Amino acid sequence: MANSNYEYVKSFEVEDRLMPSTWIVVRIDGCHFHRFSEDHEFDKPNDERALNLMNSCAMAMLEEFPDIVFAYGVSDEYSFILKKTSQLYERRASKILSLTVSFFSSVYGFMWKEFFPNKKLKYPPYFDGRVVCYPSAKILQDYLAWRQVDCHINNQYNTCFWALVKSGKSKMEAHNLLKGTQTQEKNELLFQQFSINYNTLPAMFRKGSCVFKDKTSVQEVSLVLDPLTTGKGRRYCEVQRGW
Ligand code: ATP
Ligand code: ATP
Ligand code: MG
Ligand code: MG
Repeated sequence: MANSNYEYVKSFEVEDRLMPSTWIVVRIDGCHFHRFSEDHEFDKPNDERALNLMNSCAMAMLEEFPDIVFAYGVSDEYSFILKKTSQLYERRASKILSLTVSFFSSVYGFMWKEFFPNKKLKYPPYFDGRVVCYPSAKILQDYLAWRQVDCHINNQYNTCFWALVKSGKSKMEAHNLLKGTQTQEKNELLFQQFSINYNTLPAMFRKGSCVFKDKTSVQEVSLVLDPLTTGKGRRYCEVQRGW
């Protein structure tokens, strides 16, 4: 239909190129995963299978989109950082966002049975996404720090909340007991009432996961982006998937 009478409709399309020479960050987040996690009986507060499924989707993303240099994930979200010089789809925001979100959602469903072999998917999981450009390394670090602080705050709250609920409190009682408590008080509650030392819980729960390519070998590398502690989170190296 080239040069047809209808071609003018293309002029309504808007230019959406992302700013050049900036890190492109795509953040993907599960849609209604609070309900999805209940409907699929995730362990609370942290279902390791679900986190590993998210991590596998992230690894697949790094293979599919070589411009992604680093990814950080927690709960039902994952952030992907594309290199500053990326020319992926001429940096068109809608292309980059729609393709990455669609690929991630698709892999999540595709790999579900590997992580939940005995649990049927009741309905299709899907994800939202946003794309933001960050102009400096400092701001990019702060972005990741922001996500990781969020991980810490939510995880500490959820660990207390579910410990209380599993001990017989109603969700409302647990919520009221935790209202207004500070970090230290939550740690003490866990230790005194449930003999849980928060700092010894798995790093993946407390700090999230990250994925990046390491050409040499699988090794523990200290995470320069870890603003909370000097401990190590979960990290992965290049993997080859055979599909
Ligand atoms: P929205 O559609 O606005 O993102 P949401 O229901 O997905 O809403 P989020 O704030 O994204 O809400 O939080 C995701 C929720 O999914 C968590 O609060 C938790 O209940 C659940 N969830 C996600 N991953 C896990 C996991 N690995 N283990 C247990 N629960 C999880
Ligand atoms: P892009 O990634 O740029 O969209 P593409 O390979 O998807 O590239 P399209 O212009 O979207 O190219 O065209 C889709 C192609 O997929 C068609 O040209 C055809 O070869 C194939 N295709 C799609 N649906 C069918 C179908 N139902 N039966 C046979 N072939 C199909
Ligand atoms: Mg969500
Ligand atoms: Mg979320």
